[in-house]
Amino acid sequence: MNLILLGPPGAGKGTQAKRLQDINGIAQISTGDMLRAEVAAGTPVGKEAKAVMEAGQLVSDDIIVRMLASRVSQPDCAKGFILDGFPRTVPQAQALDRMLWDKQLKLDAVIELKVDDSALVDRIAGRFTCAKCGEGYHDRFKPTGKIGVCDACGGTEFTRRADDNRETVAARLEAYHRQTAPILPHYAALGILRTVDGMADIDVVAQQIDAILAQAG
Ligand code: ADP
Ligand code: ADP
Ligand code: ZN
Repeated sequence: MNLILLGPPGAGKGTQAKRLQDINGIAQISTGDMLRAEVAAGTPVGKEAKAVMEAGQLVSDDIIVRMLASRVSQPDCAKGFILDGFPRTVPQAQALDRMLWDKQLKLDAVIELKVDDSALVDRIAGRFTCAKCGEGYHDRFKPTGKIGVCDACGGTEFTRRADDNRETVAARLEAYHRQTAPILPHYAALGILRTVDGMADIDVVAQQIDAILAQAG
């Protein structure tokens, strides 16, 4: 099964993609996570992307498309993949269409998580991640069971993203509305766009997605 999770920053894409990966054994592909790994490793791509990401703008389509093309060719994608944070522009969506065509693959569903802009600032400002296993948390909406200890792996170190601050969020939301939202009509025209209420609790969003996948599968 090949899926796209679409939605503004903080909508819950990563949270839901990780869950789907764990349950269905399909690969979660987060271009944001891949870029952060490049930045941390100090690669040429990371050096180019760092300032752009910290400003809340989008990294060039060229870099992203090349990164994604090599990722979907890896063995763990054989059973399918969940794209989390890609495509984010019309040229990226077009490049994906060509890639899928070349590989004779099809998209089963594009799931849009719809969340009000006003809720996203709080979601992003409270987000933190286990440094050891990558499990995502939120200060208010998804705290760890025991303070300072990861539920998933017992790790005790957590990270917050450099771009998860109130100032950068405005630029990221603007980029979403101006550059990413215009790709939705393309998937609507193909009849594979499904919209879920991303304002609901994490479990309720998960149920909505499972219902869609039960139909699509
Ligand atoms: P995205 O990948 O779309 O940027 P995340 O999945 O990282 O979003 O979620 C952003 C933050 O909001 C995280 O801290 C996460 O724990 C929290 N979160 C995710 N889904 C919900 C939800 N439905 N309700 C409340 N908080 C949520
Ligand atoms: P979010 O939580 O905002 O959805 P991501 O982790 O997906 O964040 O992305 C973080 C940043 O990485 C983006 O603001 C952007 O600078 C860059 N980025 C990630 N994916 C893409 C993409 N497909 N195209 C361009 N830039 C991207
Ligand atoms: Zn952990």
